[in-house]
Amino acid sequence: MSISPELLQEAAALAARYLASLEDRRVFPDAQAIAALDALNIPLPADGQSPLDVLRQLNAHAGASVASAGPRYFGFVTGGTLPAALAASMLSAAWDQNTFSSVNSPVGVRMERIAIGWLRAALGLPEGTDGAFVTGATMANFSGLLAARHALLARQGWDVEARGLFGAPGIRVVVGGEAHSSLFKALGMAGFGRERVERVSVDGQGRMRADQLPPLDERTLLCIQSGNVNTGAFDPAAELCAAARAAGAWVHVDGAFGIWATASPALRHLTAGVELADSWATDGHKWLNVSYDCGAIFVRQPEHLAGAFAQQAAYLLRGEDREPYDFTPEASRRARGIEAWAALLSLGQSGLADLIERNCAQARRMAAGLQAQGFAVLNEVVLNQVLVSFGDDDFTTRMIAALQAEGTFWAGSSQWQGRSAMRISFSSWRTTLADVDRCLEAVARVSARLNA
Ligand SMILES: *Cc1c(COP(=O)(O)O)cnc(C)c1O
Repeated sequence: MSISPELLQEAAALAARYLASLEDRRVFPDAQAIAALDALNIPLPADGQSPLDVLRQLNAHAGASVASAGPRYFGFVTGGTLPAALAASMLSAAWDQNTFSSVNSPVGVRMERIAIGWLRAALGLPEGTDGAFVTGATMANFSGLLAARHALLARQGWDVEARGLFGAPGIRVVVGGEAHSSLFKALGMAGFGRERVERVSVDGQGRMRADQLPPLDERTLLCIQSGNVNTGAFDPAAELCAAARAAGAWVHVDGAFGIWATASPALRHLTAGVELADSWATDGHKWLNVSYDCGAIFVRQPEHLAGAFAQQAAYLLRGEDREPYDFTPEASRRARGIEAWAALLSLGQSGLADLIERNCAQARRMAAGLQAQGFAVLNEVVLNQVLVSFGDDDFTTRMIAALQAEGTFWAGSSQWQGRSAMRISFSSWRTTLADVDRCLEAVARVSARLNA
């Protein structure tokens, strides 16, 4: 067996054909394409097959994929993959670098350091802040919470990594009433408890009300959010961080997609004050438009991240670089930094700002077009999110199902303050205003059909 150039060329050719089909194929696969996957569910054959045969069998099911790499997938805040990111990912897949340490992969570690440095600057985080790539914002939140846990307990004379949480001094956790579900999962994993939290009430956009903040102290972890997953709204970071700083509390920011607003001079005002926090979680696979999976954690005082994660073993030779395994929950990991580096280098600061701003303009166009058709937009469209109600909850639910089946675009459903809504998220470099118009035409068609 060998890896022939023909095999890789065929994979590249099939990938190119797939990408070219995205413009016009239905966004979510039809039931037939999904059912056809059953044909692959055979007992593991006794003998192997040639790589080219395997590749062709896989390609026969390309139609079962969700066209989230295309221009009209608006579910869950899902960016496409930028050309440079995809190409770098294909090449680095061939390199197969284990970015566990600089002894495993000097190039993987160096590229991660460069990409993390660029991201820190693009996201407006303070000098001296450092971080690492993880799988996504869930793990980035988890890593930030563990850094906070380390720091807040060390301050009280408790070595949590050595002694654990049983018998440890208490830490208060304060969260917004609209914190992301993954934050609660991360709080559970970190031993803080999903429910052992003080919730701060929110306004009509889901923003934490600073005037409702309980008194904070130096044993408190305050979790705020940049970018509500429904409305796109931002917790008032300047006020919240000022209060936390005065009290000596730790502030963690879940900025999975919203913190990218900082990269745009026109939108930067939305995140004002987040730079005063202590840790920040974000996603690369959302608005940086690198492929899945990629998230990043940043910590103002990176020694607290190392405090949580540093690992020792006699066989772990240390290179001259700062070793990723001292700053992440994982040991072996793929070289996410290579793709992030490629994405950032291909965009530059202006390209990144332009990507963010274009998606926000598309959200505004979508909201205006929906309102012009008589539908209610439930959120202030400050970023890339549009929440639309098509009427009563029953009709909204039917519209969402019909639009998803129709296939021009795909967006999911949500509940916002007691109402059913379609949740439309813009975060792909491929999307254009013409795509938005095409989706608005689909909405008009489908609502006319359902009303007939
Ligand atoms: C998407 C998202 C997460 C979870 O991110 P994953 O990358 O899916 O782990 C957390 N918080 C917010 C606000 C999000 O939008």
